[in-house]
Amino acid sequence: MLIVKAFKYRLEPTNAQAQRLRQMCGCARFIWNYGLAETQRMLDAGQKLPTAFALNKMLTAWKGLPELAFLSEAYTDNLQQKLKDLHEAWKRCFDKRLAAKKPVFKHKSKGNDSIRFVNFDKYCQLDRKRVKLPSGLGWVKFRQSRAVVGKIKNATVSQHAGGWYISFQVETEVEMPVHPSTSAIGLDAGISKLATLSDGTVFEPVNSFKNNQAKLARLQRQLARKVKFSANWKKQKAKISRLHVHIANIRRDYLHKVTTTISKNHAMIVIEDLKVSSMSKSAKGTKEKHGRNVNAKSGLNRSILDQGWYELRRQLEYKQSWLGGQVLAINPAYTSQKCACCGHTHKDNRQSQSRFICITCGYQENADINGARNILAAGHAVLACEVNGALMPSAAGTRRLSNQVATL
Ligand SMILES: [Zn+2]
Repeated sequence: MLIVKAFKYRLEPTNAQAQRLRQMCGCARFIWNYGLAETQRMLDAGQKLPTAFALNKMLTAWKGLPELAFLSEAYTDNLQQKLKDLHEAWKRCFDKRLAAKKPVFKHKSKGNDSIRFVNFDKYCQLDRKRVKLPSGLGWVKFRQSRAVVGKIKNATVSQHAGGWYISFQVETEVEMPVHPSTSAIGLDAGISKLATLSDGTVFEPVNSFKNNQAKLARLQRQLARKVKFSANWKKQKAKISRLHVHIANIRRDYLHKVTTTISKNHAMIVIEDLKVSSMSKSAKGTKEKHGRNVNAKSGLNRSILDQGWYELRRQLEYKQSWLGGQVLAINPAYTSQKCACCGHTHKDNRQSQSRFICITCGYQENADINGARNILAAGHAVLACEVNGALMPSAAGTRRLSNQVATL
């Protein structure tokens, strides 16, 4: 089995190299913004999104425009990759299953530029603690904390909170693994608990954003009092962006710990096929009909996003595929109202946010655990159908299942 992995390191360019990288990043950012404006204009005019190939042809035309002559300083591969990313961003935005927003213009002041070098074998070279990059960059040092394993496909250089980084994407052949465990588990993702498993295991939320919100607000108030673009204002800006990175790191580390634990212990993880995008949008309501409890809901939604459900699912999926396990996504209908003991489904079963009491058989359980047990049962029902040949298993990755099967 061929897997794709990334190795990321701190890059240490000389001043001249950093200067050239900033120039290349600037051109790439410009093309992203230019391409975004162009594609937005085409979409507004009722035209279809151009293919990635068509975008590349447009790029050739743009480079011939006298007002864009400065693009001759760019590295063309970087620009093509930016347009490829833009094309994918639009496609993600049109895909209703994803929570993707419309692509946005990139600002220099955000300080998170990146450029990708493809065809690594042909144009780049790796030599212990330095990497040779094309287009006048030459050998650039990087802090190699661990060895790069596998065949390097491409390298991305990025700038983040003032530092430079390089990430090598490698392809590496691994034996099709057999998962060390044979157990299956249902996972209920929640607001007050990050995840509850059908065996009763609970993972509390980290809420790194909430804890740091007061600090962030304070820093932003201080920023507002400073003279815009002054040295102190810039310092304050940098402080804020470092805090953002810190928050993101806490959240990512915690999620990785949780998903690694779950993935190691269970060969099959059954989750709900939740659409976070529709949940987080519904609170706003429409112009004519404003959503009810907008304030309460948007607070709830922020929590949902805070937990990073999509990231949780994404991590579980790739970790399971590495370990030889599986993630099964079932339709979430009635998982919170159904009795995991007798199967009776009624909204009155759910007495409160946290308590489940079956009005038929009297079964009592924590509502999240009851939900997780239903999710697991739905997963088992689906697998039973597959064994009977009622369902064709999909080629790879998470399986999406239709309503009638999932709620058996
Ligand atoms: Zn019951």
